[in-house]
Amino acid sequence: MKKVLAFDMDDTIAITKSPISDRMAEAFNNVLDNFDVCIISGGNYNLFHKQFIDRLDLTAEKLKRIHLMPTTGTRYYRYDEAANDWAMQYAEDLSDEEKTKIAEVMEESAKQAGYWPENPTGEVIEDRDSQVTYSGLGQYATAEAKYAWDPDRKKRMAIREIALDKLPGLEVRVAGTTSIDITRPGIDKAYGMQKLMDANGLEKSDILFFGDKLQEGGNDYPVKAFGIDSIEVTRWEDTANCLEAIVSAIK
Ligand SMILES: [Mg+2]
Repeated sequence: MKKVLAFDMDDTIAITKSPISDRMAEAFNNVLDNFDVCIISGGNYNLFHKQFIDRLDLTAEKLKRIHLMPTTGTRYYRYDEAANDWAMQYAEDLSDEEKTKIAEVMEESAKQAGYWPENPTGEVIEDRDSQVTYSGLGQYATAEAKYAWDPDRKKRMAIREIALDKLPGLEVRVAGTTSIDITRPGIDKAYGMQKLMDANGLEKSDILFFGDKLQEGGNDYPVKAFGIDSIEVTRWEDTANCLEAIVSAIK
């Protein structure tokens, strides 16, 4: 049997940048009876609280079964019962020089491609410590606006094309709905899964992963290519259905 159920966040367990539903919170409460749960996403630690942790009402025993991997696993948090808080296990941050350079290049490249927003909702370039993220409409544009902005990824591919040569030694990845993530090379969700395995003595076969971007080029694809059993969903309700079926099969 699998030991860990691992999940992408946006469009896998929640609408993009939104809190999980009551139904999903209940499903997590139930699967935590039998499984550890890992969430891995490009989002930062604060978003993990807003979208996931703040929506749960769990015993300490269950909280201890949760593994938070924000910014694609470049940070890792576990619940510390004594402190009644989340404790950082490690953080692999970019240097200040790297982050400044990335922010400059991304602004330049987006302007050159014609996709620098005049009236963004929230930050366009966000420093997530181990990752810098460009968001085409700003971080906090509505989900509806985000889904409509670049469904075929062409805008972001155009920006990426310009930025690539100017950021040697860094990975520039089209991710999420409107975003481009810049990290050190080799940082993807497979890297995060390797970190999770190393920290907990797990094998690939111990993990079942759920994601909505499992096709080649998608930000969940590296997990599948790495050899972890993966279930592709298109919206959070698919995942809720799977979790509810798992729970009723075990009972
Ligand atoms: Mg997703």
